[in-house]
Amino acid sequence: MDYVRSHPAVYRYLNTQMFPYKIKFKFSGCPMDCATANSRADFALIGTWIGAPEVDQGLFRKMVEEGKINPKEIVDSCPSKAITWDEEKKELRIDGSKCLKAMNCIRKAFPAIRPGKNRKIALLVGAHVQGHFGPKLARAVALLDSIEEVIPFATELINKYMELAPRRHRIGDMIIKRGFKVISEVADKTLPNKPKGTPSSHLRISIGTNLTDDERKMYEDWAKQIMNEYFGGGSSSR
Ligand code: SF4
Repeated sequence: MDYVRSHPAVYRYLNTQMFPYKIKFKFSGCPMDCATANSRADFALIGTWIGAPEVDQGLFRKMVEEGKINPKEIVDSCPSKAITWDEEKKELRIDGSKCLKAMNCIRKAFPAIRPGKNRKIALLVGAHVQGHFGPKLARAVALLDSIEEVIPFATELINKYMELAPRRHRIGDMIIKRGFKVISEVADKTLPNKPKGTPSSHLRISIGTNLTDDERKMYEDWAKQIMNEYFGGGSSSR
């Protein structure tokens, strides 16, 4: 496959002292993220989908009749209240616009409920356990259609990382120091037509200590306001 031939673009750097610190790529097939890419990888690639999970109503009803699943439990386990159960029609409905890709319903009722057909790959960056500024979760960058699409992005970002980060700083540390714009500029250049930002409001994907520049400003303003209220003028000497 083409991406196998493209790999040297990234691999040629490995096992050398060229990087400021280590770089990890991790791949998870679905948002359950068994590879813990979202919390441990500089480049996390996680399978996801757009919209609602797919429901095989016939199979779902059969599983309910056989006592294998309880529709009320499925409804209650959805963190975003995206699921409703029509007791009269014996139909499970899922509102795709509310689905957070939490996977609870799929875990409980597979194969009657499966990931949606409009499959994507969520690209996230900047997670690690060891690093200069402590552990961080990843930040969503874009939704890809194929794994090959990450190669130009990763190559460009690794070049930026080598240029900007001091030794023993991970990519997440670079984001803390330089701001998320380093990542968005690379994404705009190498992934111009891909949907940017979080693929859903999936908690495990979207929560991260690596803030976007807007979020960083929001928290800075908030901290200043608290300082002002508490110290009456924001004295930093107390
Ligand atoms: S995947 Fe999670 S958020 Fe989406 S419908 Fe199922 S339980 Fe709800």
